[in-house]
Amino acid sequence: MPTTLTRTRRLTGFKPTGRLHLGNLLGAIRPLVAAQDTADSVAMIADLHAMTVEHDPARVRDLTLEQATVLLAAGVDPDRTALIVQSQIPEHTALHYLLECATGHGEAARMIQFRERSAGGRPVRLSLLTYPVLMAADILVHDTEQVPVGDDQSQHLELARAVASRFNSRYGETFVVPEGVRPETAARIMDLADPATKMGKSSGPGAGRIGLLDPPEVVRRTVARAVTDTVGRVRHDPRNQPGVSNLLAILAACGGRAPDETASYGTLKREVTDAVEAVLAPIRARHAELAADPGHVRSVLADGRDRVRAAAGDTVRRARRAIGLLE
Ligand code: AMP
Repeated sequence: MPTTLTRTRRLTGFKPTGRLHLGNLLGAIRPLVAAQDTADSVAMIADLHAMTVEHDPARVRDLTLEQATVLLAAGVDPDRTALIVQSQIPEHTALHYLLECATGHGEAARMIQFRERSAGGRPVRLSLLTYPVLMAADILVHDTEQVPVGDDQSQHLELARAVASRFNSRYGETFVVPEGVRPETAARIMDLADPATKMGKSSGPGAGRIGLLDPPEVVRRTVARAVTDTVGRVRHDPRNQPGVSNLLAILAACGGRAPDETASYGTLKREVTDAVEAVLAPIRARHAELAADPGHVRSVLADGRDRVRAAAGDTVRRARRAIGLLE
């Protein structure tokens, strides 16, 4: 098909360290779904990355399947997007080691996550230091051209680009050097209980995070309790009214219309609840259908794996040859 020549290759990852939330949907899943007409995407559940900090094996396994199911429920089309589990494709880890041989210790130690978590000599897993190199392998092994990134991941993408360029100049043209892209449809969603921080998987459920599978009652309560301010105006002013501005951003991203500036915060919250509910209800329903047949989801993942492995194997062979391991 000639169209494949013009389609860009993208990679988006999700870490199974918690349940997917509204931030993941509006910041990553939606842009992924929206790009399915123009990009060949790999959507990866990064289970190996979930093991860089203390983890519960059964929970990682369960969350991996749940996240894959939610991605399908939210519109990821497995015919157009390869949905994969990172650990099922050994080429990721095979390339990881080769890239470690082209990465400086200082480069890895400078990464923010490592610096923050290891601050004050706190004990950390060695994998927390090296996982950005595994992330580079995740990207490079699939000849990824574009990586959708938010502010907090740009450092990792820069490392992947630096390692790819260095490898290419030392050992000969081997890797596609990926570019970071900021999808137009992506929104950055803040925690409803603490609008100064990003909504994250570790935000308390029912506190500041809206889970994609939260029942309507929990969504309603979470929005009702959202932190606002005493200004009393419904205005987009992130500096002075971060809570209200976040609610307005969610409302807009969920297709709702902002109420008048003079509306009460109660009215705003009701609008937000309705708009979020309209987005989540079909995902919840489709998830329930898919979750009733986990065998089907597993077969989608096996299919994704089979689709990407041959090309990933080629990349690893190319790298092995370049670095001196193969004739
Ligand atoms: P994670 O599984 O935490 O690595 O996140 C998966 C994807 O969701 C990444 O592309 C993140 O940038 C995106 N994401 C996570 N939290 C948010 C948020 N609060 N707002 C927007 N995007 C987010």
